[in-house]
Amino acid sequence: MKQKIQNCVIIGSGPAGYSAAIYASRADLHPILFVGPNPGGQLTTTTSIDNYLGFPLGIDGIDFMKKCQKQAIRFNTKIMNQSVKSVCLSNKNRGIHHIFFEKECIKSRGVIVATGSSPRLLGIEKEKKFTGLGVSFCATCDGFFHKGKDIAVIGGGDTALEEVNYLSKICRKVYLIVRKNYLKASKILQSNVLKKKNVEIFFCTKIIKIIGNDFLEGIQIFNHEKKNSSTLLISGLFIAIGHIPNTEIFKDQLDLDNKGYIIVKKGSTMTNKPGVFSAGDVQDSNYRQAITSAGTGCMAALDLERYLSLSS
Ligand SMILES: Cc1cc2nc3c(=O)[nH]c(=O)nc-3n(C[C@H](O)[C@H](O)[C@H](O)COP(=O)(O)OP(=O)(O)OC[C@H]3O[C@@H](n4cnc5c(N)ncnc54)[C@H](O)[C@@H]3O)c2cc1C
Repeated sequence: MKQKIQNCVIIGSGPAGYSAAIYASRADLHPILFVGPNPGGQLTTTTSIDNYLGFPLGIDGIDFMKKCQKQAIRFNTKIMNQSVKSVCLSNKNRGIHHIFFEKECIKSRGVIVATGSSPRLLGIEKEKKFTGLGVSFCATCDGFFHKGKDIAVIGGGDTALEEVNYLSKICRKVYLIVRKNYLKASKILQSNVLKKKNVEIFFCTKIIKIIGNDFLEGIQIFNHEKKNSSTLLISGLFIAIGHIPNTEIFKDQLDLDNKGYIIVKKGSTMTNKPGVFSAGDVQDSNYRQAITSAGTGCMAALDLERYLSLSS
């Protein structure tokens, strides 16, 4: 029997994937959405989302993503509880793309890639356990919870210094922990941070222990030049050592930038392959927010809908 050719396959079940699914299903594209290895995406690792529009009292990350899935199912999005193993994306206009999972393949005229990214971890004990309980990967998301308190940021690049800049306006004291004996960040960011009176920098230092029983209460740090350790009592630890875009399966298929993020045409979600669009953190190393991911998910579905109607 000849296999049906789909109009829309969405890879990823974070805010970008579900937002794309809601728009695509309401446009009658009958989307099929793969949830992947982390159903619900990054937000399922946080207990409180306070900055998403429409939730005046905030919302738990898992509850939020369950609602997103429910809304997509309401409009008949087909949910596949699998991960995509590989793809073969056509170069042709009106081409057919192949999406492989387990031992099967789906053919589709349109694909939306919303595979997100994963924050780089330090790899120390309690780091995962205390995520959302003092350990954070995003100052814009969680900085507010530490208003007037002492916190630490780890990292020496642009992201870390941007986090320090943001947090130094809200928090009483910001400790910046840097592994090397210099900062990698751009000179302008460095000079801004060096002017801050409430920022203290520890060079040649790493975190050796997270302190606390039920939530983070402090960290133990070790200076590998002076060979001494000390304790910092803090309410929040912001880990800013980078993100890894989930683009492994697209390496030879889509144009990626030097950090591995999918390149989209400015102001749209178009990739270099006709009919393939990308949304959310996997194509955005800058904003990395749930609301911007959902926004680009909407854009991807609208872009795909237009592509299909022009090419039919
Ligand atoms: C701890 C934490 C707290 C945060 N708090 C906030 C907050 O309060 N407010 C805010 O705005 N933002 C917050 N963020 C950022 C926010 O989570 C991200 O910006 C957002 O989730 C990105 O959405 P996305 O849909 O692009 O990708 P993700 O949420 O990263 O989802 C990616 C999806 O792709 C799937 N996937 C990956 N590979 C495959 C594959 N091969 N096949 C199929 N599926 C695949 C995964 O399973 C996952 O479902 C937080 C992030 C973290 C880590």
